[in-house]
Amino acid sequence: MGDVELAEALRRQGISDERVLEAIRRLERAEFVPEAMRNVAGQDSPLPIGHGQTISQPYIVAFMTQALELKPGERVLEIGTGSGYQTAVLAQLCGEVYSVEVLPELAGPARERLERLGFGNIHFRVGDGTAGWPEAAPFDAILGTAAPERLPPALYQQLRPGGRLVLPVGPLHGTQELIRVTRPPAGEAARVENLLSVRFVPMTRAPPADLLH
Ligand code: SAH
Repeated sequence: MGDVELAEALRRQGISDERVLEAIRRLERAEFVPEAMRNVAGQDSPLPIGHGQTISQPYIVAFMTQALELKPGERVLEIGTGSGYQTAVLAQLCGEVYSVEVLPELAGPARERLERLGFGNIHFRVGDGTAGWPEAAPFDAILGTAAPERLPPALYQQLRPGGRLVLPVGPLHGTQELIRVTRPPAGEAARVENLLSVRFVPMTRAPPADLLH
């Protein structure tokens, strides 16, 4: 089945990358939201997924994915697995996805869900995504679905020359700016573009281990 109508609604709003629309069409967003929300999952709005977090608005998922300009076979780092919906869109459009989520309560179910749906090209990690995933770097593309106040240096460092990073940056509570940073060949200044005003949950730092017990 899949979200055919949702993809058509996104096309009418200006999403033009056919591969992104197809990736959305093939998924059922209802599978990524709590049971009580299933009946509204096909709407273009964010929804609560528990633990103070939200599944992003489909338009934003599509917009950010389109802005990454992924090519088949590329390796992508995602910060903020959340429900895994954005992860599932990315996994259809690239070679490998490395997804980091700070909350184990969300990471566990997202992993189960994506494995049940048959995705075999997603690597999961529970931890603080502001550190990136150094062992798997460099990445062709990096996407953040939570907003830090400033671009975490580790993320830029883990982007290969020519790589693209799309991330909301700004005040922890309020409106942030969705930016795209393109890493140039060595020696040149990074190219930073402001794409859209957005509202994301804050990108938090993991609490020290002794606070977890
Ligand atoms: N793309 C997800 C968005 C979930 S909201 C979806 O559509 O379902 C953002 C997610 O980022 C939350 O799950 C939150 O726990 C996570 N997050 C916040 N700070 C983080 C950090 N420092 N490292 C990793 N994940 C983080």
